[in-house]
Amino acid sequence: MSITGTQVAYYIVCPRKLWLFTHHINFEQTSELVADGRFISESTYERRADRYVQLEIECVKIDFYDAAEGVVHETKRSNKMEPAHIAQIKYYMYLLEKHGIPVHYGILEYPKQRLTHRVDLTDEDRQAIPRWLAEIEQIVSSPSCPAAIQEPFCKQCAYFDFCYADEEPLQAAVPQVENTVGQ
Ligand code: SF4
Repeated sequence: MSITGTQVAYYIVCPRKLWLFTHHINFEQTSELVADGRFISESTYERRADRYVQLEIECVKIDFYDAAEGVVHETKRSNKMEPAHIAQIKYYMYLLEKHGIPVHYGILEYPKQRLTHRVDLTDEDRQAIPRWLAEIEQIVSSPSCPAAIQEPFCKQCAYFDFCYADEEPLQAAVPQVENTVGQ
């Protein structure tokens, strides 16, 4: 099974989100992926056109790869779900390495916050990532959707209404926070 970077990020955020997304249950009007794509295409990185290339490996599309430096760049709208972004870019580096493509490190970019973070792939990651992939396969191949995780950031997730419809006590139990799942 080929696994995308988005699936890896959703796996880190919430198994239910991973399952729903993989089973094509999406809400286009609020889709974070659509918003991310629009944001990236609207982000003006003039030097990119010359230096960076887009890569496709298995079913993964890496938007910006600096072949001269062996650096993967990943751009996000917000750093509020950074652990998921770190996992995603580490997965990209893992895949590049697996296919013999030179990669030295990754850079997470948050243009709106004017932040960049370097991400390295460690030996620990090389051992952990196959375990993530096995767990992802297990989650998505299950016939039933995992339970809602009831985390504060659920309020900002595109699936919130779907997950908590008709569950007023749950909605009340999930406090308002400034967070954005999957951004
Ligand atoms: S609302 Fe919460 S439980 Fe539902 S998919 Fe999103 S993060 Fe997961």
